[in-house]
Order: sequence, then C-alpha cells, then structure tokens
Amino acid sequence: MNTIQSPASDTFEFTDEQPRLKVQESEYLRLLGYPRDHALDARPRELADWAQRWYAENGRPWVFARAAGRLKTATGKVYLSGAEFVSDRLHEQFVAAEAHDAMLVAVSAGKECEEKARQCWQEGKPDEYFFLEMYGSAVVEHLVTHAAGRICAWAEQNSMAVLPHYSPGYSGWPVSDQPKLWNIIRGNNGTPFPAQLDVMESGMLRPKKSLLTVFGLTRHPEKVQPGSRLIPCENCSLPGCQYRRAPYRYFMPQSESVSLQQNEIAAPSIPVAPVLDKMARYSLNARALRKWSQERLQLETANDGSINARFRYEGTTCSNLGRSIEYNYHVRLQPRAQAYRIAEAHCAPAEGDTGYTFMCEYLKDPTGFMNLVNAEKPLIGRPLNDVLAWKRSINPAGCHCEAGSREHKWGMVFEVIHFALAQKGAS
Ligand code: SF4
Repeated sequence: MNTIQSPASDTFEFTDEQPRLKVQESEYLRLLGYPRDHALDARPRELADWAQRWYAENGRPWVFARAAGRLKTATGKVYLSGAEFVSDRLHEQFVAAEAHDAMLVAVSAGKECEEKARQCWQEGKPDEYFFLEMYGSAVVEHLVTHAAGRICAWAEQNSMAVLPHYSPGYSGWPVSDQPKLWNIIRGNNGTPFPAQLDVMESGMLRPKKSLLTVFGLTRHPEKVQPGSRLIPCENCSLPGCQYRRAPYRYFMPQSESVSLQQNEIAAPSIPVAPVLDKMARYSLNARALRKWSQERLQLETANDGSINARFRYEGTTCSNLGRSIEYNYHVRLQPRAQAYRIAEAHCAPAEGDTGYTFMCEYLKDPTGFMNLVNAEKPLIGRPLNDVLAWKRSINPAGCHCEAGSREHKWGMVFEVIHFALAQKGAS
C-alpha cells in the first residue's frame, strides 16, 4: 500500500496499489444474474472459482482518491477544482446536503483481466469470458466500497459526512464528462498513478473495468439521514463498517452500466440464469398485476432490443378533498442480453393533471418537492429481476408526499413490467 494522507479536508489524498481484495460472493452472484443466496451448480461454480483464482494471481487493482477543493454550485451545475459539470442530479444532491467539498476517486481492476477475458473470447471460451468479465465488474464495485470505507472513516473523524458516489454516465450526468473529470482527478501535482488509465473523448475508459466517481462531503451530518437518499450506506456493501447508518439495500450502477452505454464489446447472451424469474413471488396480487399490465402499461421494443415502458398511475391526495392524481412512469430497460437492466426511470404528472398540485408536500415547496420526486430513480442500473428482492416500504398512500409511498409506487411499476414481460415469455 502506498499512501499519502492528511487530516486536513483540502489535502486528503490516498493511493492504494494493493487494496485488500475480498469480493463478496453475493455481489458476484448478483452481477452474474443469480439471486444473492443462490447455490451455484457444478459448472458455474467451477467457472466462478476459476475467475476468482485467476484474478487473485494476475489482477492488478488500484485506487486513487483526493479532495477536489474549490466546490461551487450554480443552477444545474457543479464546479469541482474549477471545472464546470452540468448535472441537475449532482447539483440537487450537493445543494440538499450543503456539500462543501468532494472526493474525486478513480479505481481500476487493471488491464490484465480485460486482456485475459478477450483472449478467452477469441479462443471460443464464452463461459470463461463471461465469468471473468463479471468478476472484473465485481472487483470495481469492491474497490469503490473500499474507497468509501477509507473516506467515510476520515470524514467521521473530522465531523463530516459522505454522500452517495456519482459518476458521469449515471442518470442525469453525461458520460462525455469523463475526460474532464479525469483531468481534474489527475490534477497537475504530478502524483504518479499505479497504472495507465486512458479516457476517450466518448467517455470510454481503458481498461474498461475502471470507474471515475465523486463523493460529496458535507459538514452537516444531520442532512445525511436514513431514507433521505443522501445516505451512501444504502448503496454500500462494505461488511462490518463501524460507521454504517443504514442497511445495504441497493447498489449504484458502476462500470458495467457505464461501459454498456459506451457500446463496448457486448457480453454474449449466455443463459447462466433466467433473466426474469418465472416463478416470481410478487408483492402485488395476481389479479392486480394482470389488470394493470393490460390496462395501464404500454411496452414497446426498440430496434436494439431495449424496452420502453409507460405506466399510468391513478391515485388521490390523502387530504385536500381527495383530489385525483394521474402520473406517468417511464422506464427504459436494456435488452434481454443485458438482463433488462433499468437504464432510465422517471415519473411526471400526466398531461392535463392538476391533482398533484394539491399534495401537501407540493403546497409547502412546489419546486423543491418536484425536484425531489424527479431525482428519485430506485434500482437504476440494476436488472429488473432485482425488484423481487428489493426490501422497500409498504406505504400504499395515493399521493407522493412520503418517501415510502413513492418507493411503494416504483415497486408496483417495476413489478407490473416484470409480470408483463415474464408473461410474454421474455424471461
Ligand atoms: S457503510 Fe456507510 S459509512 Fe460505511 S463505508 Fe459504506 S457508505 Fe461509508
């Protein structure tokens, strides 16, 4: 390990050339498309063990992190180290948490596993290719949690709190901002990086099993409360963290989701597990699923196999005379070969609907409330099938005022889409 570290906020920096690698089996299984507690059969077990062993002997992972300094925000924009980034989502998060700085982080699983995976593909070994590719992705996710662990420990000791990490290529931040972010991560202080990382104009990273990301920092830990979406722990799988504020619930999209947007080599569609569980146990009853999938859902398949779904939600406000509300939920899924990962998710009042303006939270703060609802994109980057394991609030209130009721509605929308696709034999 090679580390330069200072407790001062603006000079905190570390490089780790030999991060401790402990990829959790459940995380690897998730990336392979299996349920988290699935027991692998003999052949997949052999492949998974081979990929892990190969990486332990040949992989060269690394982590670099440093404080950005000079954080500023303007409408829809964030300035880090003097560079301008246009992202409503990042801006909202930083403003809501009163962030004063951010940690810039680069991680990579190294070029070795990518080269070996390519070799397997060229040698006609698609199974080995797939398992090693997914292991590389699991390493990148592990490195991000490793970096989070160090940043959170440092922040706690300095009376700060850390926000969920965010990267170009995630919803609401163009992937084409990668070169700019890489420029400021590298900075001009001459810090040598453990290995070469190239960032293309398109935003593509080489090695592709790498990630550039930003963790906001705030001196207001009270802003980072469980359930507020500003708490990073819900997206962090680090086991045994003494600073954890909330249980791990869902991961942030990382290298895989971003690289898919970069039109990198498409993963072969090896059916290692059903993409949609046909024996799914939904939280909604079968009658509601059938009725809503027929009456409220529209599905369109694009030429590239991605799926656009639109769900019409109808409810009423809990107070203010029970006004009716009509909302449209839009979801875009990546093609089946990419496990129907949720690429986009947003909701908005239907055209002509005025009922939403009578929701209590809207009446208190119209712009802030609509921004909050707009910013929530649960399960983004995850396979649609993950809705079955998503532990979410049960709050069937008709309005959107409470976080739990919004989460409940997203769960309902994803379940109806899952049901409709499984019924169509798309699993
Ligand atoms: S569990 Fe929470 S506090 Fe611990 S490293 Fe992860 S994000 Fe930070």
